[in-house]
Amino acid sequence: MMRKFSGDTLLVATHNRGKLEEIAKLLEPFGISVVSAGDMNLPEPAETEDSFVGNARIKAHAAAKATGLPALSDDSGITIDALKGAPGVYTADWAETPNGRDFVMAMAKTWEKLEAVAAPQPRVAQFRCTLVLAWPDGHDEVFEGVMPGRVVWPMRGSQGHGYDPIFQPDGFDITFGEMDRWQKNEISHRADAFRKLVEGCFT
Ligand code: IMP
Repeated sequence: MMRKFSGDTLLVATHNRGKLEEIAKLLEPFGISVVSAGDMNLPEPAETEDSFVGNARIKAHAAAKATGLPALSDDSGITIDALKGAPGVYTADWAETPNGRDFVMAMAKTWEKLEAVAAPQPRVAQFRCTLVLAWPDGHDEVFEGVMPGRVVWPMRGSQGHGYDPIFQPDGFDITFGEMDRWQKNEISHRADAFRKLVEGCFT
């Protein structure tokens, strides 16, 4: 049996405004208001695990323990079959530079690595999103969303963020970078995970 969320305030274990607003909108219909780890001045724990679920668990449990409130966290990234699942949990790390994140560089790196192993076409990949809802007593529920597709080159489109310009979702001939935000938000790995969360814990 899955545990239901029963309060009226959910703590979202993120310091990212954009993520918080997206989640707030999704939970509004259920009469739930959200507050972020950033608002409550919680520290950002180190993401030391080598899986999405491991890192999402660290963030959700740390926030739930610190506040006594149920806490939701998310961890996401892209996994590429020909690179044995890389960059995976290191998706954002591939973009790190001394002056902040550079996703054009990260996408170029991705393409070079695929060329280096002479990966066959199509270059099968998945965007993944793991959500963890944790309670202060240590219980948690985990939901995984996935968007299957392929890595393409050159980059196409200027909408979206991160690796969107090199990811072409299955069933489409445009990249996430060329897709309307609302359309992407309907079909994305994050939408998939949130549907499962709402079904499991909020209805
Ligand atoms: P985190 O989940 O905030 O740690 O970030 C994971 C990284 O995965 C982000 O920095 C993005 O680069 C990438 N990522 C996750 N979801 C998407 C997406 O929908 N489009 C493009 N990049 C994404």
